Amino acid sequence: MESGMDSLLSRWRKIINQLENIPHLSIIPQPEMKNFTTWKVGGKALALVEVRNGGCLDEVVSSCEREGIKWKILGRGSNVLVKDEGFPGVVIKLGGEFCELKREGNCIEGGAGAPLSHLVSFAREECLGGIEFLVGVPGTVGGAVRINAGCFGKEIGPLVEKVEIREENGNREWLNRDDLFFSYRYSNLKKEKIVILKAVFNLFPEEQEILEERIREFCYLRKEGQPLEWPSAGSVFLNPEGNSAARIIEEMGFKGLRLGRAQISSKHSNFIVNLGGAKSWEIEYLMNWVQKEVYKNKGIWLEREVELWP
Ligand SMILES: Cc1cc2nc3c(=O)[nH]c(=O)nc-3n(C[C@H](O)[C@H](O)[C@H](O)COP(=O)(O)OP(=O)(O)OC[C@H]3O[C@@H](n4cnc5c(N)ncnc54)[C@H](O)[C@@H]3O)c2cc1C
Repeated sequence: MESGMDSLLSRWRKIINQLENIPHLSIIPQPEMKNFTTWKVGGKALALVEVRNGGCLDEVVSSCEREGIKWKILGRGSNVLVKDEGFPGVVIKLGGEFCELKREGNCIEGGAGAPLSHLVSFAREECLGGIEFLVGVPGTVGGAVRINAGCFGKEIGPLVEKVEIREENGNREWLNRDDLFFSYRYSNLKKEKIVILKAVFNLFPEEQEILEERIREFCYLRKEGQPLEWPSAGSVFLNPEGNSAARIIEEMGFKGLRLGRAQISSKHSNFIVNLGGAKSWEIEYLMNWVQKEVYKNKGIWLEREVELWP
């Protein structure tokens, strides 16, 4: 009898032959996801496919849909915990034209696959201000807009002028400010099967030295407050309204607590760091345990910020 994995592999084999002939597309079969996430954990996916234009993206998505194979977009993998068992589907990375950045007046149009670090550098070179606070957030434009990434009291959402998406039915559409909704680590783009393709950010002219100074300051603040020397996915839990998840975890006395090679950071207690060779289950166990203990003792349910795959 064919097992679930065998059936998945045979469905995948049906489409890989077609995909292999498509230019602007590269395929890594059964990649170790720990090599594609900032936590450096996670087992194998069925395949990792890098698409370099919209046509390729459509081909991959429609082939997966036809064969009933799960697919997900991966940015820099800086907000996901891929389980040790891996992800039984195709992971799609947006490369090529999806990484382009261009200026239009005081706006920058960024491809969804562009790293935020490139966006910040490009804005600095173009003497456009407003986005410097995102320096050091290791995500992509798409990942950041989807979750309304933010720090130091600012968020990316208010800078977004419009967003181009691929809808579930394959249509491409530009959404304007009025169609978009952002709140704390949430946007109305946070839906399965919606792919963010591009975003346009409304910035303002600024002197380059001022931008450089601000970027230096934000980098300093990050280095001071976060355990950047270890792999992590940034903050694990959302801050409850009017409170700080880090403070709550610290008050519980959990700072520095360790399971195997995973540790609640002693520098920032809302970070779980990989001390080298951590397993995904160790991180997940720590997260669940913190959630339960905090709830038992303080009656506060800490919602996870990071996403679990699958
Ligand atoms: C050291 C460190 C510091 C951090 N600091 C911050 C911080 O200050 N503020 C903050 O908000 N976050 C922070 N983060 C978390 C993380 O970097 C952000 O949430 C970031 O926005 C995630 O982007 P990504 O491209 O890595 O998304 P991924 O982790 O790759 O994906 C996250 C989710 O977004 C989806 N997704 C990604 N791209 C697209 C797309 N184009 N279209 C549709 N869906 C997509 C994925 O499918 C997945 O569901 C930090 C992380 C680390 C490791």
